[in-house]
Amino acid sequence: MTETRTKKSSLLPVLITMLMITSAVAVGVRMTTPGEDKLQAMQEEWQTLTAEKEALTGEIQGLKAAVAEQKDLPQAIQRQKEEGFRQLGELEQKIKAGESTQKIAYLTFDDGPYDNTTEAILDVLKEKGVHATFFLRHRPDHVAQIRREIREGHTLANHSYSHKIKAVYQSADSCIREIRDQQEWLTETVGVTPQIYRFPGGSPTAGSKKQAIAAALAADGLGYVDWNCATGDGLPGALTTEKAYQNAIGSVGEQKIVVMLMHDYSTATLEALPEIIDTLKAEGYLLMPLFRESVMIRSA
Ligand SMILES: [Zn+2]
Repeated sequence: MTETRTKKSSLLPVLITMLMITSAVAVGVRMTTPGEDKLQAMQEEWQTLTAEKEALTGEIQGLKAAVAEQKDLPQAIQRQKEEGFRQLGELEQKIKAGESTQKIAYLTFDDGPYDNTTEAILDVLKEKGVHATFFLRHRPDHVAQIRREIREGHTLANHSYSHKIKAVYQSADSCIREIRDQQEWLTETVGVTPQIYRFPGGSPTAGSKKQAIAAALAADGLGYVDWNCATGDGLPGALTTEKAYQNAIGSVGEQKIVVMLMHDYSTATLEALPEIIDTLKAEGYLLMPLFRESVMIRSA
């Protein structure tokens, strides 16, 4: 320590002297060469600054383009999705016409999101590389899970605002109000406007009001979908994992296009899910998220 301090203090006068000499020389140079040289130096400095400015402007423009690209990304993903759905629509038509031996299964989860089970379902889907469809009700405390569903490429769909059967089906107007409130809430909260609706309890629950509701759905650009397979987790009574699996696979039968009804809240469905997915894959089903133009989506 002492040694360093000694060195520093002995260096200081030398530095000051050098600085004085440098300044004197600089002043001397400036004094002896006024005019042209000085102007040239200024010009050079100006040119350097201009080049630096241009480089920075170029850099800023590059950054701006990158930001614009980031902003365009959701639209780009949407465009890519739309192209995928267009091809899927063509495949469905071929399957329907008996021109393709391909099979498609749409896994659907209703009523969520729920604590724990929704996240665990998303984990399974992620691990299996499968995209599904989530029919959501108004769950303001579970926006994080909805955002994850979007991030991981699943389809968000409308399952009414309150999902309270009596309130929803009081009249056609109350049902339409519920649908529109939920559309608005999802659009405002997560920036996604669903194109698919599922009637709480299924479309027959709407009874004689169904036609008026379906017309309003169509006017709003929504199609609706029921289901042709289920794990049975929405039925009263306890459900075992084994039974959920048997119900699901048993209900598939020989159907070429499958919409599987499941619920986020069911641990039996959650536990049976990996095996359901594996079996469907082994049987040659493509597992896809639903889209507006699917033959399974009924438009009024
Ligand atoms: Zn439901």
